[in-house]
Amino acid sequence: MIIAPRRVTAPGNRTRLMAFSGHSFFQEYQADMRMQARGDAELWQAGCTALEEDWRRLADEERRWIRARLARIGALQERLQALFAAADGAAHCRLCRGACCDRGKYHVTLANLLALLAAGQAPPPFDAAAPCPMLDGEACRLGAAQRPFNCVTFVCGPVEDALGAAGAAEFYSCEKALRAVYEDFARRYAGGGMNGFLLAAARLAGRSPLARQDVAPAGLRGLLPPARVGVSEEG
Ligand code: SF4
Ligand code: SF4
Repeated sequence: MIIAPRRVTAPGNRTRLMAFSGHSFFQEYQADMRMQARGDAELWQAGCTALEEDWRRLADEERRWIRARLARIGALQERLQALFAAADGAAHCRLCRGACCDRGKYHVTLANLLALLAAGQAPPPFDAAAPCPMLDGEACRLGAAQRPFNCVTFVCGPVEDALGAAGAAEFYSCEKALRAVYEDFARRYAGGGMNGFLLAAARLAGRSPLARQDVAPAGLRGLLPPARVGVSEEG
């Protein structure tokens, strides 16, 4: 759970890294990182543009299915946020300077982007210099109801201790219910996996993230047993 300024780098780490900055292997490493960041930005942009287009053309029935689950996700995540706030999680995150956001690049899933689109907001551009596309300066641009599963369900030891036994029990019960809703998206849509939208966009290579994968192609309907029809590409 992150609601505080992120840690750019620990002072000691930065000193050690900068000590290698003149070496050729370090420059090659930096060049690799820049190429990867450019690739990520292109993937993100292409995936988001395609998703916006798909969302505009989506059938009403499909939108209703999505909105019903987004509402459930929103309610559960708001509850998780309330438990986190009651445990004074913000103070803990400020102390560690939001370390969790340093690894946020792959947390955003299809469901989170759909939550933005359903609210009439466009996905943000990918900032290659930021560790997560949702980081806006020093804060997450998403409200608790829209944040990725990983971001709202992770609590480190100090925060978990502060939740207390009853708070932790409710927290993990909400997490279980929330995971089930995200898995609904993973089973239904080609880009709906829990591994994050960026990875899904790379795997789909231009195929729509909203392509249904829980229904058999027309020619196979009636030929496959029902259990096969619901099989998803991801666990
Ligand atoms: S490690 Fe703990 S205190 Fe730090 S940002 Fe994550 S949840 Fe907050
Ligand atoms: S979406 Fe990104 S910026 Fe927001 S809480 Fe998660 S990791 Fe941090």
